[in-house]
Amino acid sequence: MNIRSCAVSLLSAFALANGLAAAVLPTPDDVDSKAASSQAVQQANDFIIHLSSPEGEHSKFITYGWNGFAGKLISWRYNDANRNASFSSSSADAVLRLQTAMGKWSAACNITFQYLGTTTNPASLSTGSADGVNVIAWGPLSGNTTGVTYVTASGPGPAGPFTLNESDIVLNNLFNPNVDVTMLHEIGHMLGLDHSDVQSAVMSGPPLTTYVSLNALTADDIAGCRALYGAPAVTAVAISGTITNGAGVAGVNFCARPSAGVTCTASNASGAYSCTVPNGWSGTLHSPSVAGNRIPPQVFASVTSATTRNVTALSGVPSCNLDVDNNGLIEPATDGVAILSRMLGLGAAAFNGLAGTCAANTTGTAIFNATTSNYNVTGGASTFAATDGLAILRAMSGKTGTDVTNGLGLTREAGATNTSWVAIQSWLNTTCGSSF
Ligand SMILES: [Zn+2]
Repeated sequence: MNIRSCAVSLLSAFALANGLAAAVLPTPDDVDSKAASSQAVQQANDFIIHLSSPEGEHSKFITYGWNGFAGKLISWRYNDANRNASFSSSSADAVLRLQTAMGKWSAACNITFQYLGTTTNPASLSTGSADGVNVIAWGPLSGNTTGVTYVTASGPGPAGPFTLNESDIVLNNLFNPNVDVTMLHEIGHMLGLDHSDVQSAVMSGPPLTTYVSLNALTADDIAGCRALYGAPAVTAVAISGTITNGAGVAGVNFCARPSAGVTCTASNASGAYSCTVPNGWSGTLHSPSVAGNRIPPQVFASVTSATTRNVTALSGVPSCNLDVDNNGLIEPATDGVAILSRMLGLGAAAFNGLAGTCAANTTGTAIFNATTSNYNVTGGASTFAATDGLAILRAMSGKTGTDVTNGLGLTREAGATNTSWVAIQSWLNTTCGSSF
């Protein structure tokens, strides 16, 4: 990692000059000779052109001729010293804008940037020493150079040729007409790209092309980054299928738990639905009933590829309805509390706030009205909160066996026939149309 102790380490530096006014640009050699501390080394290892088949000559891209960062990961720190407030208003603003630029690269190829916080370390490679920290800093640069990026690589190792191991950026605090453009370009250098031979790319620049001021990556930039890191990792995968109950069930729009990153489209007339979930997602898709069709919740674990899940809807409300807020889930904290509240004789006002996520019954009155079904799980003379209610609530909470029946005195309830877990479980599954 240390360029002074590793005999085969190399150091290069690359600059971006303001491309807005070509007439005042220094020549390419001027820029590089001012910026580079190891120009001879740079030229010896620079401008390696890879040909990418089948497109051939037209899709060549230029890197330093080294591999990118190991692990496709760049951890970095920011040094706020010498920031010019007219270029960036605060430390947080600068970090956010750098992360925005990094995000454009991460969206285009499989490179991840990990921000480790601020540092007082300088961009050490600018003084010819490696400190093992990738630092983005501000400092005075000459003329209309807006930024300089330094990279080091070490190797070759058993696995192959040189791998980048440190990259530092210095942003000019004296001159910059568009700091976002500079950041996007310099970060391209940071991750291992040299100046392109394709004009009008973010990475255009001497000696083969001239600088431009772009704030979005072009096809050539993307191809170059993918040459080093490959295409972006799969970030989203699809779940799709049909929802039928004899015929297709239309209008089912699944909700997801957890919901972050999940989007679904409602089922069409054929019952076809689709969802997009984050790669690796584990969770549940659920839905209120639609036109009398109850939709069983669908549970998924670690979805990493396109998945088909066909759903058979159920007809009618069971004689024991445990999903009283109608969100497709049977949950003790909402449905269970509502059912117990009804057994205790509480009025509709006591049911406000008991709707779970995605519930179709959202008001206290609607939930109150949904708690009229048969909850006499013990089969006794009447329905009691202390026996039927607690047994149901415990079962809804995932309890089984004597954890459901302990201490409830079920055998003392007049007329009770279901006093064991086996009998209670059977009644719940049969009468409530669920699976306990
Ligand atoms: Zn450059």
